[in-house]
Amino acid sequence: MGLICVTCGVQYASDDPGRCPICEDPRQYVPESGQAWTTLDKLRSGHSNAIRPEGELTGIATEPRFAIGQRALLVAHGESNVLWDCITLLDDETAAAIEARGGLRAIAISHPHYYSTMVEWAHRFDCPVHLHEADRRWAVREDEALSFWSGGTLDLRSQSHHARELRHQDAPLRDR
Ligand SMILES: [Zn+2]
Repeated sequence: MGLICVTCGVQYASDDPGRCPICEDPRQYVPESGQAWTTLDKLRSGHSNAIRPEGELTGIATEPRFAIGQRALLVAHGESNVLWDCITLLDDETAAAIEARGGLRAIAISHPHYYSTMVEWAHRFDCPVHLHEADRRWAVREDEALSFWSGGTLDLRSQSHHARELRHQDAPLRDR
């Protein structure tokens, strides 16, 4: 489902996106060799995730390095966790390791370079992805799991309890 840009690691809804607007943005780049694509299955065959403590948090990073070397952080939240930022590679081993720690209650992403395969993660853990409204155009794979917020801060402690409600309320916006 959906090709992944090799350079930035973002997954598109389409199997033929043609170009990657994220890499074409002046803040990123398209490699001289041209736009290249991969799939999650191909990525799984040659890469794995290292899950390591980082202070009080748990870091999740793909080895060997993929895309721009993104790293996600698992933040304990009650008996579950919030995933802060996201990475492209999601495989069974990673999912099992996170489930063993209580699963995910929500995913919160700071920047479009971490949008990666966020929809795959949301489906796997049945949780919402909180994204800022200002970055909506970079969410290139639309999905009901994406929950856009506005303003300066979002209190995840209250939001995550009402995730289903929020998703429902947001749905009409995405149909416009
Ligand atoms: Zn890209």
